[in-house]
Amino acid sequence: MSDTDQWEWGSPIEPPPGPCRLCATVADREGLHYVWEDTYFLAFLTVPAGEAVQAVLITKRHVDSIYALHQQLYNRFFAVARALDFPLRQAFGKDSISVKFGTIFQGHVYLNLTPSNSGEVGRAGYHVAPDDGQLSVLAESVRNIISRVKVIT
Ligand SMILES: [Zn+2]
Repeated sequence: MSDTDQWEWGSPIEPPPGPCRLCATVADREGLHYVWEDTYFLAFLTVPAGEAVQAVLITKRHVDSIYALHQQLYNRFFAVARALDFPLRQAFGKDSISVKFGTIFQGHVYLNLTPSNSGEVGRAGYHVAPDDGQLSVLAESVRNIISRVKVIT
């Protein structure tokens, strides 16, 4: 058991009635290009329509906001994002990661981490055609780098 298993969530809220796409993603990894997870958080690659590849780091449960997380989990959420920086830059051959933060589906706190080169304009980031297998290869590459450099404990 890792230290994180002993942490509590803080103030999780009940998920909204009806299906939640992210809860379904957490429960069933079919087709998910995950790059890292622990008891509380999950990171995976995705390609929003027309956008560059991004890693999404989410809470596995619904919480009111990032501030509802216990301090240890709050700290870990951002520590994981920082730890993913190097593996993502390496795997995508980019020199920076742009970060977008928010809450979606009534309670999943997320960080979008988008590899890109500083100074890129226009079609910035790493583009792939959806469903052509490249995401699987990229996710494996990120996992291998995480495993090799042991950036996340
Ligand atoms: Zn959910």
